Amino acid sequence: MAILVQKFGGTSVANAEKIRRAAGRAIAAAKKGYHVVVVASARGKQTDELIADAMELNPNPPKREMDQLLATGELQTVSLFAMAVEAMGHKAISMTGGQAQMVTDSVHTKARIKSIAGDRIKRELDDGKIVIVAGFQGVDEQNNVTTLGRGGSDTSAVALAAALGAEECEIYTDVDGIYTTDPRIYKKAAKMQQISYDEILELASLGAGVMHSRSIEFGKKYNVKIHVRSSTEDVSGTIITHEVPQMEGILVSGATVQKDLAKITLVGVSNKPGNAAKIFTGMAKAKVVVNDIIQTEVSAEKANVSFTINPTDLHDADAALQPIIKEVGAESMFTRDDIAEVSVVGVGMRTHYGVAEKMFSALANAKINIDAIVTSEIRISCIVDEKQADLALQAVCDAFELDKPADKRSAR
Ligand code: ADP
Ligand code: ASP
Ligand code: MG
Repeated sequence: MAILVQKFGGTSVANAEKIRRAAGRAIAAAKKGYHVVVVASARGKQTDELIADAMELNPNPPKREMDQLLATGELQTVSLFAMAVEAMGHKAISMTGGQAQMVTDSVHTKARIKSIAGDRIKRELDDGKIVIVAGFQGVDEQNNVTTLGRGGSDTSAVALAAALGAEECEIYTDVDGIYTTDPRIYKKAAKMQQISYDEILELASLGAGVMHSRSIEFGKKYNVKIHVRSSTEDVSGTIITHEVPQMEGILVSGATVQKDLAKITLVGVSNKPGNAAKIFTGMAKAKVVVNDIIQTEVSAEKANVSFTINPTDLHDADAALQPIIKEVGAESMFTRDDIAEVSVVGVGMRTHYGVAEKMFSALANAKINIDAIVTSEIRISCIVDEKQADLALQAVCDAFELDKPADKRSAR
């Protein structure tokens, strides 16, 4: 029997009525003949509330305890969900990440999945149950509870779909698909029928919160068909798939803005072999995830090295860099947490020209200063002042006509 994974995000299970509606979807799929595995997130804003509780007691909480705490949000949802399914006349069982045999590494608060043994889940499915698994969490090899990073339930769902060989992974959320940009910031954003793994991976890692970027890595690697859709409306959403030929013609498929970003700059680092390695070995040892790196030579002897990180890692990064500053001969170091990064992404950039010019002109016309620029084969990102972040996104979206579906834009 074919397996279907259905993931419900926080807003889609925020109260009893919504849980009932989600349970109804799972039962409907089971009645169609699927073996159904549900992955659920913590209800509403619960994860935020738990983080606030922790911060009140300890502004730098031990990460293991943080995971132990945050995992409780999802546990509440899955047991309530199972109760709702049973009340509607179908057999159900809820599971923690550990009970679902989701094994991760030990990097608390941003653990990565190492393996999922699906046999326990399969046994329960064969017994006619809908299996409801807590998203966002796993256990390490010592049986410590771990979590996968904010938004990580998407990754639990896609990884489970891969491990179980599911026919499809449905991501039910509060938007009816993936849009050219965040519709909360750019109201005119257009919905996409489909998007390639590469593009959504880039968009997700640049701040498109609609999908957790690790989930797309799993999807691409294991060929999981992912369907992002509305939990309230019965319309088809966006299919994430491998690149198809017509996608090549699209210059820019989407734009993002990432506001929760910090930047560290080491000024006047000695321009010697091994110094960059020292800095980033320090970051790796401190388990700091580095996003973009910008190094510029300022003279034959000196270079400036900047990089962006998650603001929650600023404390660890700063501590790790203190002894390194001297070692690499840096004159000073400064950090900023009032920056934002605006990006445009499109596989068509591989073969088109003029994208950078158009983006920089749009920002200039909106009187937005560009602090730094980062590019890859399929993206251009500009670091701007956080206060101008939304304005910058809107200017860029207008310039690339991201209010229209790709085939209706004047410049493709
Ligand atoms: P869930 O709780 O279901 O996981 P999220 O809040 O994590 O939901 O993701 C859905 C939200 O992602 C939307 O409400 C939307 O504001 C935001 N979002 C950001 N970028 C995009 C995009 N390109 N397309 C659709 N939604 C986006
Ligand atoms: N509850 C977690 C969060 O809010 C995981 C998720 O929703 O995917 O980040
Ligand atoms: Mg999410």
